Amino acid sequence: MNRIVVLGGGESGVGAAVLAKTKGFDVFLSDRGTISPEYVSELEKWNIPFEQGQHTDSLILNADEVIKSPGIPSTAEIVRKLEDKGIHIISEIEFAGRYDSAKKICITGSNGKTTTTSLIYYLLQQAGLNVGLGGNIGKSYAYQVATANHDIYVLELSSFQLDNMYDFKADIAIITNITPDHLDRYDHKMENYVKAKFRITRNMSDDDCFIFCSDDEITINHLNQIVVKAKKLPFTQKGEVEQGAFVKDDKMVVRYNDSECDMYLQELALGGKHNIYNSMAAAIAAKVMDVDNSVIRSSLSTFQAVEHRLEKVLSIGDVLYVNDSKATNVDAAWYALECQTRPVVWIVGGKDKGNDYAPLVPLAKEKVKAMICMGVDNAKFHDSFKDVVPVIKDVTSAQDAVKLASELSVAGDVVLLSPCCASFDLFKNYEDRGRQFKEAVRNL
Ligand code: ADP
Repeated sequence: MNRIVVLGGGESGVGAAVLAKTKGFDVFLSDRGTISPEYVSELEKWNIPFEQGQHTDSLILNADEVIKSPGIPSTAEIVRKLEDKGIHIISEIEFAGRYDSAKKICITGSNGKTTTTSLIYYLLQQAGLNVGLGGNIGKSYAYQVATANHDIYVLELSSFQLDNMYDFKADIAIITNITPDHLDRYDHKMENYVKAKFRITRNMSDDDCFIFCSDDEITINHLNQIVVKAKKLPFTQKGEVEQGAFVKDDKMVVRYNDSECDMYLQELALGGKHNIYNSMAAAIAAKVMDVDNSVIRSSLSTFQAVEHRLEKVLSIGDVLYVNDSKATNVDAAWYALECQTRPVVWIVGGKDKGNDYAPLVPLAKEKVKAMICMGVDNAKFHDSFKDVVPVIKDVTSAQDAVKLASELSVAGDVVLLSPCCASFDLFKNYEDRGRQFKEAVRNL
C-alpha cells in the first residue's frame, strides 16, 4: 500500500496527512471547501500536495486507503464513489493508532466529553505523567503521533470520529452518557448513534477498562445486549457499587481493585450534578492509572472550568451572566438549568437538530422567568414553552440578546446562555457564539 488520500483539510486531516508523510506514503489531501491559511502553510511546510475548492476524482479514486475527516458525512458524493470502488475509508484516529504504542484513554458520550477529557488530562499531568491531549481538542492525535513522544494519550472522540474505526483499541474507554444528538447524521435512528458510541469499546480485552454511567438507561440497555470484554467500572449517583464510583452522603467514593479514594462533593471545583458525574468518571480513570489519592483530591478541587461550559462571565448589579454556549443539545441545557438556584433569563436558539424540548418544560416552568430566542427559526421554542414561560422574545444577534436580557432581569437573577442548539445559523461555531455573548456582556 502506497497512496493515501486525506479528505478534509482541517486539524484532523492535516494531522493525518503529516503523519502519513512521515511514514513514507505518497500523500494527497483534498478539501471541497477552503483550507485556512495556517493549514495551507503546514501542508506546504511538509511538502504535501493538496487541492481545495473541489474533489478531483482522478487524484482521489486511485488511493489505496482514504482517511476521512469527521466533518465529512458518509453521504457525501465522494465517499459514495470511494465505497463503490471498494476503497477502504478510515478515520484519523484509526490511522494514528497504528503507529502509537502509548496507553490510550478515550472518552466519548453525548455530553461531558470535553470536561471529562480535560479533567483526566489535568489529573495525569498533576501526577507528573508524560501525557498528551487530543482527539477533538487542541492538536490532532495524528499530528502528535508524528511529532511528539507521549507515554499516554487522553483522547476526546466524537461519534463521527468513531464511525470509521476498526482495529483501534483503547486501554481505558469512557462513555459519559448517551442522549439523542446529531441524529440527522444517523438516519434519525437512535440505535445507529448508540452503536457508533459503543465502537469505543471495540477490540478491548479483559485487561482494559470500560467506564460508564450506570444511571444512564440507554447505555445500560445497550451494554446488556452486547459483549464488552473490558473490566466494567460504572459511576452512579444512585446507590453503591463494588468497583467504580458512587456518591455516599456528602462524599464521592471511588473504588478500584482493593483501593478506595473519597472526597467531599463540596470540594469539587466544578459545580452541578452533571459535573459530579464527570468528576467520578475522571477519578476512576486516574485510579486505574494508579494516581495517588492526594493528587486526585487536589486536582479535582483546583481544576478550572473549560471556556463556554457554564462559564461565569460577570456579575452586573447582582445579575450573573453565564456562558454555556457549548450546550448544543437538550440534555446539556437540562443540566445547565437544573443547577441554577436563581430565577433564569434563558437565552436559547440556533440550528435545530431534530430536538424534542419536552424534557425541559418542567424545569423551565420552575426556574425560567423569560426566554430570549436567538435564532433564524424560533417557532419550535415558542410552541414548546408558551404555556410555561411568561415572556418569550426573539432576537437575531448576541448583542441584542444580551441587551434584552439586561432589561428583563433584576438583581438576584441569572442570565444563562444555554442554547440547546447548534450555532451555525447565526454564528461560525459555538465558540464564536460564546465569545460574542461575553463581549456583549462586557460592553453592557
Ligand atoms: P461535550 O464535549 O460532550 O460537548 P462538554 O464537556 O463540552 O461536553 O459540555 C457541554 C455541555 O454539556 C456543558 O455546557 C454542560 O451544560 C453539559 N454537560 C457537561 N457534562 C455533562 C454531563 N455529564 N451530563 C449532561 N450534561 C453535561
